[in-house]
Amino acid sequence: MKAIVIKPHVIGMEVKNIDLEEKLGKNQVRIKTLYTGVCGTDRGLVNNKLSFVRAPEGWDELILGHEAFGIIEEVGEDVTEFKKGDYVVPVVRRGCGVCLNCKIGRQDFCETGNFVEAGIRGKHGFMREEFVDDEMYLVRVPESIKDIAVLTEPLSNVVKAIDEVMQVQRRMVWNCPDGAYDCRNAYVVGTGPIGTFYSILLRTYGFNVFMLNRRDPSPAEEYVSKRINAQFVNTTKSEEMNKLPKADIIVDSSGFPSAFIPLLSKINKNGILVLFGTETGDKTPIDADLVSFMVENNIAVIGSVNANKMNFKESVNYLTMWKEKYGELLNRMITTVVSPEEANTILEKKPKGEIKSVIKWSD
Ligand SMILES: [Zn+2]
Repeated sequence: MKAIVIKPHVIGMEVKNIDLEEKLGKNQVRIKTLYTGVCGTDRGLVNNKLSFVRAPEGWDELILGHEAFGIIEEVGEDVTEFKKGDYVVPVVRRGCGVCLNCKIGRQDFCETGNFVEAGIRGKHGFMREEFVDDEMYLVRVPESIKDIAVLTEPLSNVVKAIDEVMQVQRRMVWNCPDGAYDCRNAYVVGTGPIGTFYSILLRTYGFNVFMLNRRDPSPAEEYVSKRINAQFVNTTKSEEMNKLPKADIIVDSSGFPSAFIPLLSKINKNGILVLFGTETGDKTPIDADLVSFMVENNIAVIGSVNANKMNFKESVNYLTMWKEKYGELLNRMITTVVSPEEANTILEKKPKGEIKSVIKWSD
């Protein structure tokens, strides 16, 4: 079958035929891939910027792809949850089997680090025409969102992080007098798919959202920010920055400390900083005055990665709800669709004006 592969620690990618001869186990299903999404991690792998990449045991190549959506073609004899024709999204990380978090399905908090991740480390990914997977790692998707269900995986990571925020902020009373969050302000740094999902989710909780970037919005970003009633802010324009109210939560999806550290002076007491982006090279120091400010104001900092199966289920629910509420908004987030043969055009570098780029494998 056709697959998109990389050689770990080598720059480049290839579309080629690979026969995995995957046999269908009793608790497994065979899935025809419909769409796979492309994110910064995939581009980091193709450009050999991520040292943790690992091929499966016995392989020197890795099939890429961790954001997938497909349809079940065949079910094993003991499968109870799914039938042929069901739409599904697979979870990415599979646990180490040893630590307590992994044993209860919270491999997103694996303690040993010996997990595998499809298309990233130790397990073939989903950028191929079909794959076999255990039913326990699949989440059902309603047909009504089949055009946007490829967004489930990136959104699941955001759902997990905001769940953590809400747990940490239970350290005091953080909601507004009416019990919601309409009196709280959020800065979201970076306006790619992850920043956009943070913005939509925080708006759903009621936060006033400010979407920050170092430039003016692209047409797609302008549409999204207006549609969700958030404000796009160009951080290089002092007149826009001067009008910015203080933040109760700052989410960084950029990975550049030079982008979020200067913003910390505008965070309110008892605020929280969420770190989600990963980058290399930027060396912005944290000085003792900033440490004192964070101590004196109870500022919490959390880093967050990956998501558990419940977060995928919640993500499917949000996509269904937002499609009803916002109509075309989520479709407009998918700015580029290419065939597997054209995948190099979105995997080697980011297309201009992109929010989300996807590969279409089948109708
Ligand atoms: Zn573990």
